[in-house]
Amino acid sequence: MDRRSAFSYRCGACGRCCRNQAITLSPVDLIALARAAGLPTSAARTRYTIRRGSLLRFGEAGRCVALDGATCSIHPGRPLACRLYPLGLERTPDGDDFIRLEPAPDSAGVYGSDATVADYLAAQGVDRIIELAERYRPLIGAMRGRIETLVDFEIVEPREFWRRATAEALRESNYDANELIDLIFDADGAGEGRDSVAATVTAHLAMIGAAIRRATDPSALAAAAILLAVSLGYSPAEAIADPSRRLNQAASRPD
Ligand code: SF4
Repeated sequence: MDRRSAFSYRCGACGRCCRNQAITLSPVDLIALARAAGLPTSAARTRYTIRRGSLLRFGEAGRCVALDGATCSIHPGRPLACRLYPLGLERTPDGDDFIRLEPAPDSAGVYGSDATVADYLAAQGVDRIIELAERYRPLIGAMRGRIETLVDFEIVEPREFWRRATAEALRESNYDANELIDLIFDADGAGEGRDSVAATVTAHLAMIGAAIRRATDPSALAAAAILLAVSLGYSPAEAIADPSRRLNQAASRPD
């Protein structure tokens, strides 16, 4: 479906959609969620997330840990996936595609077709969150650029390098310490004294940019690039250098 497609949904406030889901979080989701919870992002990350901050935590009986009875306790700062629900968003090089998700069993929500996808997104404040999250996307290219200054891919096999990085990025436990990933999902240093999510994002981006320029461990950079890409809704391939570009560079290198 695109933004003009017929769609409407009335939430039945039953809380059944807030169980047994896999909800990916972006750095913006963490900032907004922490503000709604009245916590520093470091504390919100511990309380509400797994996989280093990149997935929402579901606890007892599969309930989201933010669910209070049948109500979302962080509703003003709920993650993008929760704002979109029951739509899913697929981000592709050709643009965004919206999918109608199956309702949770016994959900009290009511689907209809008396409005459009665009109307629904506007009512849920989706576009502002997507716009803020997209501001993190150039960091993926910055990390890839930094990796290319640190690794000679004529010597290091690129597929194996990125395969290891992908496995490390998506591990839910027993992962290596990674200061860059910690910084991506913990904006505490950027949030102090800022009165809006947007201002915190601006300061956070500057902090991450400086950390990328200082970074010297290409494996840590690659894992961070992949996890950031996934957290923004892209595939890990978004973080992996284009092999054709490397081939072109090699072809244009003087003998
Ligand atoms: S964050 Fe809120 S809306 Fe999202 S799953 Fe948890 S309780 Fe439901």
